[in-house]
Amino acid sequence: MASEFELIARHFAPLARDFPGAYGLLDDAAVISASPGNELIVKTDAVVSGVDFPADAAPDLIARKALRVNLSDLAAKGARPRAYLLDLIMPTTLEEPWIAEFAAGLARDQAEYGVALIGGDTSSTSGPVVVVVSAFGEAPVRRIIRRGGARPGDAIFVSGTIGDAALGLRVLQGTMPGITEDCGAFLLDRYRLPQPRTALGPALIGVATAAIDVSDGLVADLRHVCEVSGVDAIVDAELVPLSPAAREAIAGHPPLLAVALTGGDDYELLFTAPPSAADRIRELSRSLGIAVTHIGRTAEPFVANSPRVTVLDAARQRLAFTSEGWTHFDRHT
Ligand code: ADP
Ligand code: MG
Repeated sequence: MASEFELIARHFAPLARDFPGAYGLLDDAAVISASPGNELIVKTDAVVSGVDFPADAAPDLIARKALRVNLSDLAAKGARPRAYLLDLIMPTTLEEPWIAEFAAGLARDQAEYGVALIGGDTSSTSGPVVVVVSAFGEAPVRRIIRRGGARPGDAIFVSGTIGDAALGLRVLQGTMPGITEDCGAFLLDRYRLPQPRTALGPALIGVATAAIDVSDGLVADLRHVCEVSGVDAIVDAELVPLSPAAREAIAGHPPLLAVALTGGDDYELLFTAPPSAADRIRELSRSLGIAVTHIGRTAEPFVANSPRVTVLDAARQRLAFTSEGWTHFDRHT
């Protein structure tokens, strides 16, 4: 294995070429500033082999997912991505081709999302690979979309489709009964490589009252918004957008609907806005080519200080969820 400095020069310095403040990764630190009228929005995320991705995952996909989950958080706040730091902690047994593939994955996503590597750290471990990406974005000063801005009576929207990644993880684990090859491949791809909504997020500034990216699961992440905003939420399960592949999986095994609604890793944007913003959101969705679906509404909290998320089925019955899926139906009053 080459020295740390050779590895950085060979594989990482090219990724910093277009960002002057990165100084070619030849200095101790990098310089980044927001453009006039904007401020920097920062986020970091660590992914650990064997925990956040399978130990045998392809290095380019590990790199891209590590970057993309950070871009998704920036998007959820309405920030445009600019740059990122990379801390790479590798087992001493890792070979250089692994690093080359890892860097190639980053190069691909840098081109796709218009971000640059500006620094990081490289170290070794006797444990698993650890990848830490810290991303920097920018947004107009004091305009980021917080989790806490939802008001009673807002409409709730979500981008893309929900549940694909959680179902894809089951495909990966071999626990998805009787799914066609095409659908399995689609779901698996959605798990492996999320599509951060980097164009939609910034467009929601001044439109959305609150936003979050769906990483823990639709219901759990909506609950996060409700808790910080102090509102309840009512979601129509029938309105939640599902891909054709997810629909096929659920048709074959209905309890998988609970997996779709509560599973994680979608990296779609979940946001609230006043009903009067619906036309504008429809227009945004059309111009950006990103599906945005109205799935429910917020309400005054039924129990003060105890916001809750209610999911109703087609018969207006409340779906109750456990980690395994819903256990019973009870009447919503
Ligand atoms: P120091 O010894 O001061 O901690 P390093 O030798 O770790 O500095 O890093 C030298 C330069 O290489 C710095 O600009 C640092 O940001 C960059 N660098 C180190 N590791 C990485 C990495 N994995 N990805 C990107 N840049 C890195
Ligand atoms: Mg160092």
